[in-house]
Amino acid sequence: MRIRYLLNAGLLLLMAGLFGTAVVLNRNHFTSANANVEIAFERELRLQVRHLRKELEQQEDELFARAEQPLILDEASSVADFPEHFLILPNGVVPACTAGLAETVSDKEAKEAFRSGLAALPDKAALPHFKTAAQLKVKTADDLYRKIGAWFNVLEFERDVRSVCCLLTLIHQSSPALTESQRLFFNDMLGAQVPNLEQIAAWLKQQEATAERIDQYLTRQKGAYRTTINERTLSVREDGRAVLYPPRLETAPPVELIRSADETAGMEIAPGLYATIPKATVAEAQRNIRRQYRTGNTIMALMALLGAGLLAGMAASAQRRQKLNALRTQFIATVSHELRTPLSLIRLHAETLHHGRIPPEKVAEYHQTILTESERLSGIVNNVLDFSRMERGKLTINLETVNLSDCTGQIIESFASRFETEGFKVEQRIKPDIISRTDPLAFSQILFNLLDNAIKYSDGTKIIEIGLDVSKGWNILTVADQGIGIPDKLKKHIFDEFTRSDDSKVTARRGSGIGLNVAQRLAEKMGGTIEVADNRPKGTVFTVRLKEGNETTGG
Ligand code: ADP
Repeated sequence: MRIRYLLNAGLLLLMAGLFGTAVVLNRNHFTSANANVEIAFERELRLQVRHLRKELEQQEDELFARAEQPLILDEASSVADFPEHFLILPNGVVPACTAGLAETVSDKEAKEAFRSGLAALPDKAALPHFKTAAQLKVKTADDLYRKIGAWFNVLEFERDVRSVCCLLTLIHQSSPALTESQRLFFNDMLGAQVPNLEQIAAWLKQQEATAERIDQYLTRQKGAYRTTINERTLSVREDGRAVLYPPRLETAPPVELIRSADETAGMEIAPGLYATIPKATVAEAQRNIRRQYRTGNTIMALMALLGAGLLAGMAASAQRRQKLNALRTQFIATVSHELRTPLSLIRLHAETLHHGRIPPEKVAEYHQTILTESERLSGIVNNVLDFSRMERGKLTINLETVNLSDCTGQIIESFASRFETEGFKVEQRIKPDIISRTDPLAFSQILFNLLDNAIKYSDGTKIIEIGLDVSKGWNILTVADQGIGIPDKLKKHIFDEFTRSDDSKVTARRGSGIGLNVAQRLAEKMGGTIEVADNRPKGTVFTVRLKEGNETTGG
């Protein structure tokens, strides 16, 4: 017992220790997670920014490479597909497509500017026209007409955006050599060849405006650099080439891209373009950590409660087992004692009779004692047998059609000499000829136990009332005494095995604590019930109800 208590205490201590450790670990985890969340976000941001910068550079490299390619306008493409073409010339920045038109450009530069365009020409026959168009310096009105003519010739071979742009610039330049009607004429001629001339013209205008702004930047800034113009990134390389493009970058949550003039808006990817983690996201993550911490604590508390409950349950069941074991041991001792008393009485009386050492008028009395004691003995033995069968689930009920009134009468009769010797007055209210399907042995055992108790636990007033009646489909047997009574607290458990009152009036009498338990189980097996109540003015009354039809609950 001591060992069990020590074990339980040890387990309890272990659980408390585990719980404490878990709480501390959870707390530590929370504190570090809370502190780490900002560090983790910062790390994630840096990682993504590094990746984004690399990505931007790659995009630019691709765009610069594309800018080297000819701008061939086919059915599927649009000028909007080529926003990146710029060329930085010593006298400023111009859209790549108009390069070479400026009078100040040297032959070499013009050639370079049109190298890609030339390469695109499929027919070598176009080459002389292209050379004229690109290299002819306009000094007279005639030169201008020739140059325009040469571009129209180029267009015959390939509908090149660059050529269209050059023509547009030439036609709409404020050259005094062209009259307004000539301008309109050339424009219409060009429009006849180029279906989306208006779109190209608008694009050209836009590019020129942008180029002008870039030019302003470049006069202030030397070398390669980046800036933002109209939500687009302008990138200029050392060699003077430039691209203007909308960066196509993608971030993964929690990182977001923002455009802002504020340099502290986040980590810079390019001027005006920043990567950041919104404050709300950080706050939400911290809230989540707090929530997890609280949930962790709740789960642990629940687990601790469960553990404590389990432990308490285990302790309670161990205690119950212990109590039952003690009761069983006591039961064996009392049963043996109970058996021994009637047995020695029987033996003593039988021996005396055998040796003929008693006067003849006492012989009948001796026989009666032997009979009474053997009946008591068989009552005890029956209880023990029934109890043991029930414990093993082996007790069977055998229903017979019996006259319950007669059966009750016979059992009372078997108690007659005990009632007489112990001075009991028995009042019977037995309705005659109640016929019922009952197990007569089980019924007798119930009544035997109740009468035996009524005698054992009597107190002064030795009156026992026995009743048998039929009411609302039930056969009702009552045994009422005016004995010591049963305290309310004990009544709840009175039908439990091995229950005995610790009142000295009870402990002084013989008993094993299974009589009422057996009576209840037998009654229930026959589909009935047994109840206990206080008798008036004192004592106890037991009521057994058995179904008139007597359906059993089976074996
Ligand atoms: P036992 O009589 O062998 O102790 P029972 O199961 O028959 O066992 O009874 C259990 C307990 O119920 C008794 O020990 C006693 O405390 C109480 N008891 C039973 N019948 C009566 C009664 N008629 N009057 C008072 N107490 C009773």
